[in-house]
Amino acid sequence: MTYLMNKQRIAILGSTGSIGTNTLDVIARHPDRFEVFALTASTQVDLMLTQIIQFKPKFAVMASIEHGKELARLAKVNSLSVVVLYGSLAIENIAKHEFVDVVMAAIVGAAGLAPCLAAASAGKRLLLANKEALVVGAELFLDVVKSGGATLLPIDSEHSAIFQCLPSDRSTWASSVEKIILTASGGPFRTRDISSLSAVTPTEACSHPNWVMGRKISVDSATMMNKALEVIEAKYLFDVELNQIEVVIHPQSVIHSMVQFRDASVLAQLGTPDMRGPIAYGLSWPNRIENGASAIDFKNLSAMTFEAIDSNSHPERFPGLALAWEVLRAPAGTTAVLNAANEIAVQAFLDERIRFDQIHGVNQSTLSAVLPAKPMNLGDLLDIDSQSREAALVQVKRFEKL
Ligand code: NDP
Repeated sequence: MTYLMNKQRIAILGSTGSIGTNTLDVIARHPDRFEVFALTASTQVDLMLTQIIQFKPKFAVMASIEHGKELARLAKVNSLSVVVLYGSLAIENIAKHEFVDVVMAAIVGAAGLAPCLAAASAGKRLLLANKEALVVGAELFLDVVKSGGATLLPIDSEHSAIFQCLPSDRSTWASSVEKIILTASGGPFRTRDISSLSAVTPTEACSHPNWVMGRKISVDSATMMNKALEVIEAKYLFDVELNQIEVVIHPQSVIHSMVQFRDASVLAQLGTPDMRGPIAYGLSWPNRIENGASAIDFKNLSAMTFEAIDSNSHPERFPGLALAWEVLRAPAGTTAVLNAANEIAVQAFLDERIRFDQIHGVNQSTLSAVLPAKPMNLGDLLDIDSQSREAALVQVKRFEKL
């Protein structure tokens, strides 16, 4: 196979999701720069077929044999010259394929951890949207990034913003950064009567005021667990102390996050709420490219407001946020317990088995039930993950009776 030397060959893990489709939108604007080498997805066979027809990847991978067989059949019917594979091992093999330059990690949940490690060990440019992968196994993850010689770039808008505000010379971060200020929109229920949170429906929880996202992260934004996961992500990505991370509510989502330096100056990154911004930055870093996002119209921007978020004084509205600091102070492996519990709790809420205001209860009681042994490798992390999922399912059963 021959390739044009100047094109970046991209593998998108989770191409059918919100981040995946936005990534393809950016790539489609720059056919001279990027080439889609491989796409992976889980269940959306028809959308994957459409993407194959438009982007002509060499490989397409579905998570299960059932969806893989269906995609292979459709690819044959449509005479497409794509190699169709299936299974989690195939996704890992794509993530570390020798012809791949850039991996967009956009699988949702801990299922993305092993492919992220594969990409990191093979020294890829790894664009990390899949925050859960880092939350589950940050220490191992960062070790593998280092030993594999990978370049890890954040895609979460907040972490991309922080990365854009930080000096390019990483060795100066420790001496120059006072704190990292993560902005949070407050989600759809920032001002909703707390007593009505028990009646929230999955559709309401997935209707974010500023961002269009997948269902899991939308629910996480409504509970503020997304911000908790982001606090954990920020601690590891930027190697700061827990007391150097602050969360402030900024309902307009114009400032994506900020860095305060030792001299009390603050740098902020601003933009319209459009994930194509951070995705394009990750793809083109250290350059910048057009990405389809519209610019802020400052003349019509009526206000940028900020509110304190103090999870101690608002425990009923956003009780999950404080768990970030709690699990980061707990023994290694506890972040993986929280992540697994939350994945189970969110799915149980989306399946209408538990109420919105019970998600936190499942997370908290799972944290009390599982005391993880120190994880030494991927196998240990996956054990903690499955043990915690089982414990969380027990809690879901308990809560659904209440
Ligand atoms: P979506 O639910 O929209 O998409 C998830 C993608 O992962 C889909 O392609 C899905 O396939 C695939 N997938 C799901 N489960 C598996 C599995 N077990 N194995 C392999 N593939 C799987 O999620 P988002 O795009 O919203 O989010 C992706 C990640 O990016 C999350 O970690 C999220 O926190 C993070 N993120 C998202 C943002 C956003 O704006 N959406 C912003 C910042 C971070 P299929 O659809 O075919 O079933």
